[in-house]
Amino acid sequence: MKVVVVTGGVISGLGKGITTSSLGRLLKARGITVTIIKIDPYLNVDAGTMNPYQHGEVFVLDDGTEADLDLGNYERFLGQSLVGSHNITTGKIYRAVIEKERRGDYLGNTVQIIPHVTGEIKRSIREAALASGAEVVLVEVGGTVGDIESMPFLEALRELSYELGEGAMAFVHTTLVPVVGPVGEAKTKPTQHSVRELRAIGIRPTMIVARGPAPLAPEIKAKISLFCDVPPEAVISVPDQGLIYDVPLVLEAQGVGTHLTRLLGLPDREPDFTQWKNFLETYRRGEGSVEVAVVGKYTELRDSYLSHTEAFHHVQGRLGCQIHLSWYDAEDLPRDAAALQRLERSDALLVPGGFGPRGVEGKLRAIEICRTRGIPYLGVCYGFQMAAIEFARNVLALPKANSTEVDPHTSDPVVCLLEQQKTVGELGGSMRLGAQKISLTEESRVAKIYERTEIWERHRHRYEINPAYLDRFRSHGLEVSGRSADGRVEVLEIPEHPFFLGVQYHPEFLSRPEAPHPLYLALVRAALARKEVPPDAAPTPTRA
Ligand code: GLN
Repeated sequence: MKVVVVTGGVISGLGKGITTSSLGRLLKARGITVTIIKIDPYLNVDAGTMNPYQHGEVFVLDDGTEADLDLGNYERFLGQSLVGSHNITTGKIYRAVIEKERRGDYLGNTVQIIPHVTGEIKRSIREAALASGAEVVLVEVGGTVGDIESMPFLEALRELSYELGEGAMAFVHTTLVPVVGPVGEAKTKPTQHSVRELRAIGIRPTMIVARGPAPLAPEIKAKISLFCDVPPEAVISVPDQGLIYDVPLVLEAQGVGTHLTRLLGLPDREPDFTQWKNFLETYRRGEGSVEVAVVGKYTELRDSYLSHTEAFHHVQGRLGCQIHLSWYDAEDLPRDAAALQRLERSDALLVPGGFGPRGVEGKLRAIEICRTRGIPYLGVCYGFQMAAIEFARNVLALPKANSTEVDPHTSDPVVCLLEQQKTVGELGGSMRLGAQKISLTEESRVAKIYERTEIWERHRHRYEINPAYLDRFRSHGLEVSGRSADGRVEVLEIPEHPFFLGVQYHPEFLSRPEAPHPLYLALVRAALARKEVPPDAAPTPTRA
């Protein structure tokens, strides 16, 4: 087992997740099998109950694990799916230790952080690594070195490096090299302090990734090398990048791939970045542009919609047109005439997932604009449920139509609680989560987009479309074109509209730079097509 640990110093938010993902990509480009584990030193068992406002998007894995958004970066950079055991939290570790203690597994011993908690951490890492079958496992430690929360994890990793022996583990430390003063001096002191802190725990970094606004001058690299005891070729400069997908090549250009394989005693084959470079080249082609409106609730914190943003980057890297996302706050929208006018001029609309009543009216208004004016629309999860409600209100003339999530006593519950889950009281664990099989109707728009009639997509929801309204939807032009194996409505579309599609699942979680998701591709293609047609020649959207 070979392990690469990535820690962070000085401040959080240095892009450790992107560094870790990129290191993985460098190894993978050399034909080495890799996997990544994220350690989150918080007490939450998983990210499911965490507010995306505080922590960014909750990423969902195939197995239904609600994970930290970095797992999404790993999947996108590696182009492979991960499982729940790859997100280790303090909550999971302590829960396991306490369960074992209650069962009497510790045979009367005093249960302590060292060796019991650290032992459980090592066991979890080894188990996840072993199950993945990868040659190299990268472990990203969340937070910054010196945080009380991360101490047991760093101690466990120190112990692990001792147990695995020389040459089996590399420690990559990410730090900040700020540029200060009138002449723009790069400062190495924070890096020195943070490396000292790491050494006090007994970990000697083997590589330093210095983040900052500008590339490091050779003398600054030399200084860090001298003070921190790493060879100059192991001091890597990663200045801020406009596009995160450039980072693997920034690292590669500084010889990181070769250095890392040498450290771990792995063969250093010629890396293959053909597809990756194709993606980046097409991304920058800039042939035409579209503006996609996104109406959501957490628009101030863009990280809460990270996978959607990335999915559009992937499409840009396939189609070569510029995609501008315009963010609209769903709550302000109904009262903001100027914003509504701007929205009407958008080339497409995405309404992503969401929870609760806030902002619902704004989403409905935006969807109505798209439906009635032939603007391409993609509704994801809540955005799909909202499309059904909008249709019921404005086409079926049921003004009270709503989701019982918003109005529990509505006379027209077009979206309501999944029958089996009505009884579940605890918030964590009451959702329909993870990958499910969906059958698409032959000849439907969605089947044509996927070029298949059987798909697997990831879910995260509690409510669903009420089947009692389906006949009326259908007779007025809104069709069900996808269902789960147990008959739930998964896809709705308006065949007479140029592009109006809602999906109960989350396609954004499966989009990858080298394999953009077909629905996002189709939405942007529809937006491009619409730009070419003069507005008065556009087809009439719906029957009603
Ligand atoms: N709030 C809705 C539900 O629970 C949609 C969830 C979502 O968009 N992720 O069903």
